[in-house]
Amino acid sequence: MTKITDIFEQKPHTFSFELFPPKTDEGYQKLLETIKALAGLKPDFISVTYGAGGGSRDKTFDIVQHIQDKHKITGVAHLTCVLHNKNEIKNILADIKNRGIKNVLALRGDPPKENPDWQPGKDNFRYSSELCAFIRKNFGEHFGIGVAGFPEGHLLCQDRDRDAQFLKIKIDNGADFVITQLFFDNKNYFDYVARLRKLGVKARVLPGIIPITDYQGLVRFCGLCGATVTAELKKIFEPIQNDKEATLKAGIDFAVRQCQELLAGGAPGLHFYTLNKSTPVDTILNQVRR
Ligand SMILES: Cc1cc2nc3c(=O)[nH]c(=O)nc-3n(C[C@H](O)[C@H](O)[C@H](O)COP(=O)(O)OP(=O)(O)OC[C@H]3O[C@@H](n4cnc5c(N)ncnc54)[C@H](O)[C@@H]3O)c2cc1C
Repeated sequence: MTKITDIFEQKPHTFSFELFPPKTDEGYQKLLETIKALAGLKPDFISVTYGAGGGSRDKTFDIVQHIQDKHKITGVAHLTCVLHNKNEIKNILADIKNRGIKNVLALRGDPPKENPDWQPGKDNFRYSSELCAFIRKNFGEHFGIGVAGFPEGHLLCQDRDRDAQFLKIKIDNGADFVITQLFFDNKNYFDYVARLRKLGVKARVLPGIIPITDYQGLVRFCGLCGATVTAELKKIFEPIQNDKEATLKAGIDFAVRQCQELLAGGAPGLHFYTLNKSTPVDTILNQVRR
């Protein structure tokens, strides 16, 4: 399968999706149907999370392999280094490589709810930038490496300039591209890219887009990941938050506007947090794809 960097050489814009491994067998069967529907939209790549929200870590690479082998679409395996020692990470990367996977999203992750005080020891990685360097040292150029970026700063680092400097370390240590945390005010994205360019970061920064289908759920999630629920969002969605259909329609309209503005302003593509649903991403993509 193709490295993302090779796709970038061919295409000025990429359109991609994120999935997460479901916790149940029933959810897994449903996901296979969703992947089929998403594959029909011909994305440039699909990424699959690793252990996010307590989800199964084992299934991530099976799903990426399925996406690649069955649908011939490039897959990206997320990999978090929290709770793993360096030797385990090396074995996991060797397994990923054997499976024909050529792209990873190198992340630190967060200690799980049941082990919130976990601290890295001398055999662990402290930051994702160390994971990037480790991948390059041990696997050369085999993998295309993506990293997470935070237009509003990371929850633990609200100083946006400092956080941007940490992002630069990830790139200097071998990362090829950035996928951002979700955000709703495009100014935050454009300012972030400008901050990174000033620091000499040339890598593509793919904006992470979440279509809003459940406003209350979104507000809870934003509290956990540090994304701002803007005044505009509150004005649109609070009055209709108990009306599913109205929320879905407004969510699509908002995302279409957000995506069009991002592309018009120079964003090199869009990465959709699909929440394992093919709709409404299909409707949005049909309206904004170039
Ligand atoms: C696109 C995307 C995909 C994600 N996928 C997953 C997933 O699959 N599974 C999952 O569990 N989580 C996932 N997450 C969440 C992510 O794991 C958390 O946000 C986590 O808290 C930070 O991960 P990171 O890789 O950005 O960490 P890091 O880059 O290591 O940063 C962590 C913190 O340390 C600070 N920092 C970094 N370097 C230094 C340094 N040298 N000195 C001091 N401070 C430093 C940063 O500012 C930040 O506050 C994802 C997030 C995004 C945006």
